[in-house]
Amino acid sequence: MLILTSSMSQARGLLRDAEIERTLRLMTLPLIKSAGLNEENVHIYIVNDNSMNAFVTNGQNIFINYGLIIRLKSVEQLQSVIAHEIGHITGGHLGQRISSIDKARTTTGMGLLISAAIGVASGDVKTSLGLAAGTSSAVKRAFLSHTRAQEASADRLGIQFMVDANINPKASLEVLNIFENQNLLSANRQDPYVLTHPLNSQRISNIKAFINNYIPKKITKRNDLDYLYARMRAKLIGFTGKPKSILQNIDINQDIEIATYTRAIAYHQMPNIKLAQSEINKLIKIKPRDPFYNELKGQFMLEIGDASSAVEAYKLAVELAPNELLISSGLGRALNSVGNHKSALKVLKSVYHQDLKYGQMLYELARAYSHENQPGWASLITAERYALYGNFPSSEIHAKRALILLVEGSVGWLKAEDILIQVQKNLRKNKH
Ligand SMILES: [Zn+2]
Repeated sequence: MLILTSSMSQARGLLRDAEIERTLRLMTLPLIKSAGLNEENVHIYIVNDNSMNAFVTNGQNIFINYGLIIRLKSVEQLQSVIAHEIGHITGGHLGQRISSIDKARTTTGMGLLISAAIGVASGDVKTSLGLAAGTSSAVKRAFLSHTRAQEASADRLGIQFMVDANINPKASLEVLNIFENQNLLSANRQDPYVLTHPLNSQRISNIKAFINNYIPKKITKRNDLDYLYARMRAKLIGFTGKPKSILQNIDINQDIEIATYTRAIAYHQMPNIKLAQSEINKLIKIKPRDPFYNELKGQFMLEIGDASSAVEAYKLAVELAPNELLISSGLGRALNSVGNHKSALKVLKSVYHQDLKYGQMLYELARAYSHENQPGWASLITAERYALYGNFPSSEIHAKRALILLVEGSVGWLKAEDILIQVQKNLRKNKH
């Protein structure tokens, strides 16, 4: 069984979760504004990787390993990492590296991860297919590693962005101190952050100098962000760790709500259904109108096979947060599970047209189409799902099936043809 399902859903190496994405966005917005970027264009992704790393790709995509979020101690520390990454974006350090992708056909994995992410973000299957073909055998160190000059520039810009947003820039120094100790470790024990953002004593003393020069006029400490950050960490720890050791190591001095959150998830993962229920109900008693607690309850109920209770919990969550597409797709999944495919199709189609696309959601959408006697659309969505993951042979089979089943020249038929053309192009490329 997959550990990360439903609400914490995996999209080829990425973690998707409505609450965590919302928190990251809130933390990042002031920095995006300071940098003069358009918030619509900046995308943040959580990588399903326990090591510490953060990196950027073209198109203003910021990737953060969940391991980094768990290990950093404050909102400001994580903001300093994000500010530095935004520095790489505005410093234009990406174009130079992207052009070297094709040359660096060394490591696997990253190409597809990026393409899946961009496919998810733009909903454009062509973008995702093109990148998958271009980068699937490429990348990693050669592609992701910055030069010293780029590091110096991103440090300077990052601190500037923090100061402009009234965030204490000292956090950047705290983060570098965490990584400085890693220089003493052998390369295979270092976190990838040290490799992607080369560190040396010169860099640290430069940062100290910048920080001393830039004394912020005022520092705004946002307690609401501290709370949301604690919740985000609690959730990630609960879903990604080993339940037994999580339960043994829960910090008894932390806020009771935060500890309950981690415990609820750890019990669910064990699984200890009774205790998981009792912990999630405690959370809902504390905050009855919290969409994410109700969403989590929906996920728990669904995964223990009580689909009708899951539908109720998800319905309330969607009512409380109607714009959170990941929660809506959870409702769609629950509706499929109780056999209400008609309602499931309505919910999932709306999610699909708002451009949220990832494996599990596409799977549920195809399932709803199939039960509602629309096999052509079921095949089309299945073709799209396989294409998103770079499984071109399976995508080709389903796209061909969709072309037979759908009315020639209709919207769906044209879409299927589009996918087939892209897929076959990629299949030919892979042969050479
Ligand atoms: Zn860097």
